[in-house]
Amino acid sequence: MDTTQLGLQARDTASVWHPFTPLGEQYTPLPIVRGQGAYLFTADGRKILDAVSSWWVNLHGHSHPYLAKALAEQAAILPHVIFAGFTHEPAIRLSERLLSLLGGDFKSVFFSDNGSTAIEVALKMAMQYFDNQNNTTKKKRHKIIAFEGAYHGDTFGAMSVGARSAFNAPFSPFLFEVEFLDLPNATNIKRLCEQMQNYVNEGESLAFIFEPLIQGAGGMNMYEPQYLNQLLAIAKTDDMVCIADEIMTGFYRTGTLFAIEQLEHKPDIICLSKGITGGTLPLSVSIANRRIKSAFEDVPYAKSFLHGHSYTANTMACAVANASLDLLLQSETQMRISKIVEKIQNLSQKFKALAFIENVRYRGTVIALDIRTQGETSYFNSMRDRLYQYFINRDILLRPLGNTLYIMPPYIMDLNDLDRIYQAIEVLPEHVDLK
Ligand SMILES: *Cc1c(COP(=O)(O)O)cnc(C)c1O
Repeated sequence: MDTTQLGLQARDTASVWHPFTPLGEQYTPLPIVRGQGAYLFTADGRKILDAVSSWWVNLHGHSHPYLAKALAEQAAILPHVIFAGFTHEPAIRLSERLLSLLGGDFKSVFFSDNGSTAIEVALKMAMQYFDNQNNTTKKKRHKIIAFEGAYHGDTFGAMSVGARSAFNAPFSPFLFEVEFLDLPNATNIKRLCEQMQNYVNEGESLAFIFEPLIQGAGGMNMYEPQYLNQLLAIAKTDDMVCIADEIMTGFYRTGTLFAIEQLEHKPDIICLSKGITGGTLPLSVSIANRRIKSAFEDVPYAKSFLHGHSYTANTMACAVANASLDLLLQSETQMRISKIVEKIQNLSQKFKALAFIENVRYRGTVIALDIRTQGETSYFNSMRDRLYQYFINRDILLRPLGNTLYIMPPYIMDLNDLDRIYQAIEVLPEHVDLK
């Protein structure tokens, strides 16, 4: 077996299909053999700075010994067990801790394996919440409200509530209809409140789903908690189920442990994944409040939530999620997070001074900016590939969304490395065709 860089690449092209990637030699990926802290090491010895936390999942750096230990210990005693009819301490403990950290009215944790399934679960819970109520006099609820520019995942329900684009165009005939609201700002909030009030008056909406404060894959669009609060205040006068997709924003990405801490009005269901295991194993949760839980309590079998996955609440994933929470809540990590938040604020000032950049925005541990362009501003702007290559050639992993560049560092990242990323961006016009 050829495990050299070129050997791995040839074998990959011959046998593997990668996400969001055309097939073919032109798109051959870089083989990674090791990760350490904020760095990834290639088979031919390069050391690449992971400035996107490996798709936003990594919090504490790669190969963290504390997480590795938790994983190995769990693997040695019980790597997995069926989660219907059986339970285990790692899942119970994780549920207790998440509920306690969330506070408020959250009552019950449902496990699945990734962000998209957490969204499917939340949507199905919302639909069945009404179906379980046997109230034939009530108008049938069929509308789901989401934001323009949203991304909630790649399965069918999740695609349906996401913005329509080339990413889901081939499937559009099979997606259910959704009412899309513009993302709120000072100018449109009054109109959006009226729109929400109309939905409430109609009484036909079953769910309102949103990424609080930052829309991730849709372009790192940021918006103010006060506007979401205003919309929630109206939605909560109705029975519709409010779903917060915190799959990206959770675990201090917006500066607080959960983005909803910055809201006065809380959702009925919150979805978490990505950072939940610190980037070690796939796991997600959809956490329901008392109202949703009660619609499924003491019901006949046919009215229970008939949903599950083979690896639901995998023991190792739960164990490593508990370990990741241990690290996250340590004062040392909290200090690192504050330092990154502060550094990102400083960098935002420097970015604002660069003429080829516009729309600099940041919140918590995420900063995003747009490269000025005459071309289209979508993900398919070819500038994206040029930018990606430029940074990779400088051993920095950034994955631009079209002409939008963002940095989402693991909390372990050295502040000097954030400067290094800035320096690489600062000289972009000298090296990359930005038209
Ligand atoms: C990544 C993401 C998802 C989908 O999660 P997967 O684990 O990739 O299926 C859903 N919602 C948001 C906000 C995300 O960032």
